[in-house]
Amino acid sequence: MKSDVIIIGAGVLGVSLGYHLSKAGKSVVIVEKEPGFAIHASGKNAGMFRLLYKHPQLTEWAYRSQITWPNEVTKNCFQATGSLIAGRTLPNHHRELFEGKSIYDSNKGHPPIACVYSKNDGLLDSYSYVSKLARLSAVNGIKYFFKSEINSIEKIGNNWMATTRDNRVFQAPWVVNAAGAWINDFLTPNYARSIVDAKPYARHLFVVKGWKDFEWPEKNIGYYWDEKTKWYMRKWDTNTKLVSICDKLPARPETFIPEKSIERRLANKLLYALPNIAESLSLGRSWYCFRTYTDDALPIWGEDFQHSGLFWLAAFGGFGMSTSFAASYDAACYISGKSVSISADFLPSRVQQKDKQFMTQAIGNN
Ligand SMILES: Cc1cc2nc3c(=O)[nH]c(=O)nc-3n(C[C@H](O)[C@H](O)[C@H](O)COP(=O)(O)OP(=O)(O)OC[C@H]3O[C@@H](n4cnc5c(N)ncnc54)[C@H](O)[C@@H]3O)c2cc1C
Repeated sequence: MKSDVIIIGAGVLGVSLGYHLSKAGKSVVIVEKEPGFAIHASGKNAGMFRLLYKHPQLTEWAYRSQITWPNEVTKNCFQATGSLIAGRTLPNHHRELFEGKSIYDSNKGHPPIACVYSKNDGLLDSYSYVSKLARLSAVNGIKYFFKSEINSIEKIGNNWMATTRDNRVFQAPWVVNAAGAWINDFLTPNYARSIVDAKPYARHLFVVKGWKDFEWPEKNIGYYWDEKTKWYMRKWDTNTKLVSICDKLPARPETFIPEKSIERRLANKLLYALPNIAESLSLGRSWYCFRTYTDDALPIWGEDFQHSGLFWLAAFGGFGMSTSFAASYDAACYISGKSVSISADFLPSRVQQKDKQFMTQAIGNN
């Protein structure tokens, strides 16, 4: 199967890149080990669209994503609500997007809490967002191969060969690693020097019921995030909110077993944060999924420094839904040979080939 680009992974990053490349006239195949797109982090996340990041490039990507989403996406998958983020100060970039605000803590009678208010933030319906982009790119001839797990990649001459577990071979001058928590898993010893130091971390989300008439901190705000005491709540359904206690548990997805104590930790957090109403709340369903982080918590964006034609679009931690549309637009420009200027802080080389011990460990994990 020959094409211009092979994308490994049909999460939000792979699908967004496929959208931009196919729109630019490239022939693209997306190879996904699951039976559909957005089965992992991209369909199970909290869907909070956010502009406030320490790194200006991330804010720029999020802002540019929002103003360039196709109309159908903005109309059907996004709700502008604004957000309040406590425990943060105004950033020294993109100041026009943020405002300092103090909110009265009606729950505890404490002094007001200092927050950053961002009026452009809002709520994404993550699964329908990814599906919509996938459907829009199908018109441009993009091809999806589901239930097809890439087992190895290899460069022969000017082409990459990506081989699945059942020995199907895809061939293209470009291969993009957008495999989320599994980014190192198909790099055979020949490509060991490309293995990146990025790890998956499990995070739980809880649908909590019983918020009737509870509108703190403000009626129309889509989500409130307290970065100091580490928890957030976002509007979910009638009288329900999605809550996270910001757990970050290093985990291999295949062997991860959720902690039994996690529900107790949620209850304690709610009792501490919202003592006046915690007793009236009850737990609905809960789930977990994996965020992938480097040690500097920045994404891996760029062409491999020793294997040309291998592009990395990975480690988008907890910000992939907000930033992926512009991040992958820039990746599509790069792959198409157009000039693009991206922060050098994101280059894959910074997290590759660290030392021998790291490499042995990474290969051992495969
Ligand atoms: C609990 C939680 C809450 C979050 N909340 C937010 C939020 O509110 N706002 C926000 O902006 N971001 C949020 N995020 C982050 C966001 O979800 C991620 O950054 C984003 O989904 C990552 O997308 P991805 O495409 O890199 O990874 P994934 O969605 O994991 O996609 C990678 C795909 O690659 C496939 N794959 C892997 N290996 C292979 C292989 N060998 N062959 C074929 N296919 C393969 C996988 O099956 C998977 O489908 C959250 C994440 C989590 C976990």
